[in-house]
Amino acid sequence: MRAIDKGDTPNEDGENIEINEYGDARPYLIDRLGDYCSYCENQITNPAVEHILPKSISPNVETNWYNFLLACVNCNSIKGHSQLNLEDYYWPDIHNTYLLFEYHPLGVITLKDHLHNSVDKDIAQKTLELTGLNRYGEALTSDADRRWIKRSEAYGKAENALSFYTCNNRPNGYIQTITDLATSTGFWSVWIKIFENEIEVVDALTNSFKGTFNKFDNTDITRLEQ
Ligand SMILES: [Zn+2]
Repeated sequence: MRAIDKGDTPNEDGENIEINEYGDARPYLIDRLGDYCSYCENQITNPAVEHILPKSISPNVETNWYNFLLACVNCNSIKGHSQLNLEDYYWPDIHNTYLLFEYHPLGVITLKDHLHNSVDKDIAQKTLELTGLNRYGEALTSDADRRWIKRSEAYGKAENALSFYTCNNRPNGYIQTITDLATSTGFWSVWIKIFENEIEVVDALTNSFKGTFNKFDNTDITRLEQ
């Protein structure tokens, strides 16, 4: 899961913006984070404002900037409106969620092997299940849930791009072609996995996806420097 830097409440003319209705925050969130679902990382035309703590249960944070992410319809509806404890999960705007999941072909996501600590593992697993990111394959998803298919397609596109990138006669400026394709497809995590040995491309991808937490490679899950 892409770790993100949402920043503090947006400021205009030296004053924090007024968020009277949560929808007021949407353009600012998209400006900071790009038009991606904060959980599944799909590129979506109209991401909705996602309340980390559901607004029906915690109306006091309905218009609180720090309670917002962006989400697609599938992640939003699977996460639902039940009471939840923030401490039971890792969150992309607070933790280094890059360290949690391994991305595989065919849209499969598993926990990363290096998660040895049973507490980390348990929280990572709950985070995976919170929005159904462990669902893939037609038997486990409905027709309406095409997130795993989009993830699988992104994986294929990234693999193709890598084989062009590593061939002897790649065109000048090919990194730009990769970042253009990646940002219009989404799934930063998938692209980083495929290009993990190509530092220049990893840097370009990270700079191209707005709001990516850029210390994902040298901090621990709590974002402390190692
Ligand atoms: Zn999603």
